[in-house]
Amino acid sequence: MSSKAFDYIIIGSGASGLQLALAMLRDTHFDDKMIGIIEKRTKFTNDKTWCYWETGQGLYDNIIHKSWNKGVFKANGETIPLNLAEYRYKMIKSIDFYTYAKSKIKTASNIQWIEDEITKSEENQDTVQLRGKHKTYSAKHIFDSRLPENYKPKDSINILQHFKGWFIKTEENVFNPDTFCMMDYDISDHEKTCFIYVLPFTKNKALVEFTYFSPEQVNEETYEHYIKSYLKEKLNLAQYQIYEEEKGVIPMSSHPFYKHHRPKITKIGTSGGWVKASTGYSFKNAERNSIKIINNIKEGKSPHHHLYDKRFKHYDKMFLDVLYNHNEYGQTLFYKMYKYNDISQIFKFLDEQTKPLGEVKMMLTMTSFYFIKALLKHIAQGFKIK
Ligand SMILES: Cc1cc2nc3c(=O)[nH]c(=O)nc-3n(C[C@H](O)[C@H](O)[C@H](O)COP(=O)(O)OP(=O)(O)OC[C@H]3O[C@@H](n4cnc5c(N)ncnc54)[C@H](O)[C@@H]3O)c2cc1C
Repeated sequence: MSSKAFDYIIIGSGASGLQLALAMLRDTHFDDKMIGIIEKRTKFTNDKTWCYWETGQGLYDNIIHKSWNKGVFKANGETIPLNLAEYRYKMIKSIDFYTYAKSKIKTASNIQWIEDEITKSEENQDTVQLRGKHKTYSAKHIFDSRLPENYKPKDSINILQHFKGWFIKTEENVFNPDTFCMMDYDISDHEKTCFIYVLPFTKNKALVEFTYFSPEQVNEETYEHYIKSYLKEKLNLAQYQIYEEEKGVIPMSSHPFYKHHRPKITKIGTSGGWVKASTGYSFKNAERNSIKIINNIKEGKSPHHHLYDKRFKHYDKMFLDVLYNHNEYGQTLFYKMYKYNDISQIFKFLDEQTKPLGEVKMMLTMTSFYFIKALLKHIAQGFKIK
């Protein structure tokens, strides 16, 4: 087996690996570095619909499938309008992102695309040695998006965001393409945190998804049952064409993923804890963290220096605690959040860009006996994040 040497190797070309590679390509600091990106997949499909919010022009606006500046939140028979003001809620089809990123990477001279599956990594004094199924590799630093084995330790709080969605086309015009639906709890089993999510593309095309934030997954028929109920009861639709499907499971965990970093190995993406534990969003975090990594490298710091803000890990843990122990309460929790707070403020809070006073004010609007219980438990555990 021959061996190849690099300055940096990125394992995995998903959302985080590709965004990190693109960030390196944008920065001249890396012009004279040799970077490898190793991916086990040989075929890329449209496996994910990535949504995120941001203000102004974004890095990926040229591949946006659709964006909205209005949304709604529905619960308890009430429709709460979400006027996004300076924000837009943007959607990218993963296949468009993969194609865009791969085309950039494949024409760059300082980055090499490698198809291989890494099976072993070993950190030595100066380098990390990687064993792939086809070759071995070495690099001064590795960015690894593989999930650590057994990432679900018993002493962390683990919720799953699990969902199935149908991309549907209808004969009649039943959707308002200007307004997406963040959460609709009117179709729900009312025992768990579960809701309908709708991304309308045109008046007769939309992604309709049924989502749970709950500790256990359900069978496929359950998601489909609720999607069908929504289409029938809410939209009065008897006929529609399903032209694509999406399903997925996103870990929402208080697990301290940062403990898996090693001096020469930075865990990235889901495996680096880049999924916001209380929401499951991570696409925009990957952009932000890639920029932080680049800046750390340029400043001579460890690439994973200060990638997360501890304060928000505490909030996320308490939020997960409430959802885990009182899953039926999720609807009320989110209702209070959207009812009593401005959506721009909510986005800022979820982006971890707020100040403590504003955060306390926001949490007071959502507080309940369950939150106080979670806080007291967290205090009794010595504010441990795990
Ligand atoms: C269906 C779905 C929809 C989602 N929608 C959103 C959304 O709307 N907004 C949002 O912010 N987040 C969303 N997420 C969450 C999150 O953004 C994605 O899960 C995202 O893909 C995570 O990025 P990642 O780089 O950690 O993992 P991935 O994108 O899964 O990338 C990991 C890569 O590593 C490769 N790999 C794994 N093992 C090896 C190995 N041994 N050797 C080489 N390569 C390897 C894999 O093939 C893969 O390409 C969604 C998740 C899912 C599943």
